Amino acid sequence: MEENKVLLILVDGMRSDSLDACGHPYVAALRRESVSTPLARSVVPPVTLPCHMSLFHSVPPARHGVTTYVYVPQVRPLEGLCDYLARFGRRCAMFYSWEQLRDLSRPASLSASLFLSGKDLGYGPATGPLVKSAIETMARLAPDFVFLYLGEPDEVGHNEGWMSPAYLRSVRNAWDSIQQVLEQLPPSYTVLVTADHGGHERTHGVDCPEDMTIPLFLRGGPFAPGAAAEEGVSLLDIAPTVAALLGLPPAKGWEGRSLV
Ligand SMILES: [Zn+2]
Repeated sequence: MEENKVLLILVDGMRSDSLDACGHPYVAALRRESVSTPLARSVVPPVTLPCHMSLFHSVPPARHGVTTYVYVPQVRPLEGLCDYLARFGRRCAMFYSWEQLRDLSRPASLSASLFLSGKDLGYGPATGPLVKSAIETMARLAPDFVFLYLGEPDEVGHNEGWMSPAYLRSVRNAWDSIQQVLEQLPPSYTVLVTADHGGHERTHGVDCPEDMTIPLFLRGGPFAPGAAAEEGVSLLDIAPTVAALLGLPPAKGWEGRSLV
């Protein structure tokens, strides 16, 4: 097995058109280094926990059954990304600031995790240690799959409005973190950067372009620098893509397709 590893960074509530609007220079830099698209699709409803369940289980919310921010066990259980990878001996790690994401994988599927409450600590104070820990864990333990969740833009979107100056500052801060992680990343890691959903006014959750359109970057490994991703990619395609990068076929029942 070659030493191919995957880092997935997800920025909660990051609309595609916020990337250029936030003015962070690393956006263009990453675009030059990646296969990317501003037109990837979320799932209906475009709400954080349903979206993450869909990302990790490669099916729409109607199939996994989580349609609100409250987790419910699946009626016809599908294997999640970390559960599947762990079964094949791949080591997974999660760094996150919203506790509901704990339910994305079953016990014994993670080799490392850190949760620090963005709600309690404030996102800035929580995010720094999360980012630092993700960097240190990749340097020391080199998990095969690392998930880093940056939650603040969604929180600020709800408080101040999507595309407001405060929201764009928060997206810009997220890109500071992205740049910090990628500049210290061991070369064995292929990188995916995406969002779970967008937003409009001070909310999200309906099938409109502002809520449904998300960016996706794929850097390293088989992905050609500066190329456009194929059309019609969605959150469902991420788990099969991560599995393929780690040398595995999609798990049984997954509906997305690998972008490798
Ligand atoms: Zn939200």
